[in-house]
Order: sequence, then C-alpha cells, then structure tokens
Amino acid sequence: MENTLICNKCFATAPRGKKPFCLTQCGHIYCHGCIQQAEKQCPQCQQMDIFSVELQQPSLSRVENFFAPLSEALESLRKICGFQNNQMKILTQRFHEIVRLFNLCTFNRNIYLTC
Ligand SMILES: [Zn+2]
Ligand SMILES: [Zn+2]
Repeated sequence: MENTLICNKCFATAPRGKKPFCLTQCGHIYCHGCIQQAEKQCPQCQQMDIFSVELQQPSLSRVENFFAPLSEALESLRKICGFQNNQMKILTQRFHEIVRLFNLCTFNRNIYLTC
C-alpha cells in the first residue's frame, strides 16, 4: 500500500511496524489510540457502535480497493457497471420474452374460451 494512512481524528500518520491503524465500517481511518473512542462514536460521521478492521494482512485485502488509485478504481467500476448492465439486459430480454409468451398463452386461451 503506497498511500500514507492518516488518523481521521488526531491526524497522526501510521508508524511502520507498530500497531496497525483501523478502518471503520463507516469508511474512516483511526490510529490505535483513537479507535476505541471511534468505535463508540465515529468523530467524523457520528455513527455509534461501529465495527472496525485492522489495516494489515489479511484483512487488508478486503478493503485494499479503498486505497487503489482513483483512475484504476473508476476503470474497474466501469467494468463492473458494464458487466452488471449486460446481465440486466440479458435478464430484461428474458423477462420480456416470458411476458410475451405469457400474453400469447392468455390470448390463445381467451380465443379458446370465447369460441
Ligand atoms: Zn488518532
Ligand atoms: Zn465514520
């Protein structure tokens, strides 16, 4: 991780090889001195009783996207959007197909019933 971590309360930078900083579920970073207080109420967003993970391996891998360069993050976001849009398109087409078949069946049954 290239970015320097900075505590969102006391603005200390993460010292190498010492106790790791923590990332809260609300997306804020606190040093070891501030995290206990932050877990009761986040000084940044005022959320109460929040969880946090220590920013070290292996838990870091779960949140390392947070520290990716924005250009990379946007690119992967674009890919995710494209992928999910595509999935949605496929499902929508299938849905319309089912609706069409259903209407066809209903139509046929109505014809059958009225004859
Ligand atoms: Zn701090
Ligand atoms: Zn917060």
